Amino acid sequence: MNKVLDTGVNNVRNVSRYIFGQNCLAKLAEILSTHCTGPTGHTVYFVDSYFRENGSLIDRLPIEESDQVVFVSTVDEPTTDLIDTMCAQILSERSTMPRAIVGVGGGITLDTAKAISNLIGNGGRAEDYQGWDLLSKPGVYKVGIPTISGTGAEATRTCVMTNPRTGAKLGMNSDFTVFDQLLLDPDLSATVPRDQYFYTGMDAYIHCFEALRGSHRNVIGDAMSIQALDLCRQVFKSDQMMSDVNRANLMVASYLGGCAIATSYVGVVHPFSAGLSVVLGLHHGIANCIALMALSEFYKEEHDQLHAFADQQEIDVPKDICANLSEDAFENLYKATIVHEKPLTNALGADFHNILTREKVKQIFSRM
Ligand code: NAD
Ligand code: ZN
Repeated sequence: MNKVLDTGVNNVRNVSRYIFGQNCLAKLAEILSTHCTGPTGHTVYFVDSYFRENGSLIDRLPIEESDQVVFVSTVDEPTTDLIDTMCAQILSERSTMPRAIVGVGGGITLDTAKAISNLIGNGGRAEDYQGWDLLSKPGVYKVGIPTISGTGAEATRTCVMTNPRTGAKLGMNSDFTVFDQLLLDPDLSATVPRDQYFYTGMDAYIHCFEALRGSHRNVIGDAMSIQALDLCRQVFKSDQMMSDVNRANLMVASYLGGCAIATSYVGVVHPFSAGLSVVLGLHHGIANCIALMALSEFYKEEHDQLHAFADQQEIDVPKDICANLSEDAFENLYKATIVHEKPLTNALGADFHNILTREKVKQIFSRM
């Protein structure tokens, strides 16, 4: 096998437990009291800031007096510095270590919960663990409760953070990053705005076709990707993509996509999307859609499918976002894309540099 593509994952770790189904959020108190076997202590809740003002979710969490609640802003995706600051703040507010961490929200919130659990367990700074298998100990017991579907963050062995010094958008890839428990409650995604539901949902679709179109394959991952793609098509071809059934289907697709990608790699879309996030600050889901719109030469069928889904659902995928960029900005986009050696090798082979030359990459961005 190509060395670059050795994931080091030969003995796959999935989430230890999950409950799927409407209103399974109600099981959280029982889960925390029966399955969390750590020393006594409090729980830290990371909750998407949307729920601070909206709905009753926060009242449905079994928060006790000694627990901490941190509302996670989703204005920007997490940076390593932000994770360090949040971690120090959380530890400074209590004299004891937390016993459990609960993340309730989208990819940003779930990744924040995973990163802070790891950091509390291992010490040091978040950037020390950006890469593969750099953590030496498990973190704090952690429960993931997604409220929007698509990234697969609930299932993967990473938590994505941008390092402001190196510009690297890279996670803590480790078995220790995997959640101990998931509550997959499709009721929770009912309030997601339609366009955000589409952009994030398409992440599952993109993960799975990129994995299937790559050279680094495994049969179980393939089976999960095929099933997840089928579910995504059902959702995005439906007249009511946010019906109860479709929200449940997308939640399953997201989970399966996350499991699939954990033992494989994405392809060309994600490196371009990462470029858009790092240089222009665009969020992951929308950046993926913008990138795929300009990558028909690599993924014709899926590009056409995205067009068809967006047309049918009347979702706008922004255009001309690179229209007036400087030469410096294009150079930064090139660098932030080409650095993703593993997915690009997976998709295009070891000589991907010869295909994605500087000029070619800039040309592709100029179409976005
Ligand atoms: P997000 O966390 O960026 O949230 C998107 C928006 O949806 C936010 O405004 C949020 O407040 C809102 N939202 C979430 N749930 C809602 C609800 N139920 N009702 C109303 N609004 C709701 O969403 P995302 O697209 O899931 O996550 C993107 C992040 O995930 C990025 O930081 C990306 O890097 C990361 N990611 C991680 C992995 C991984 O394996 N760890 C994989 C892919 C992406
Ligand atoms: Zn993704």
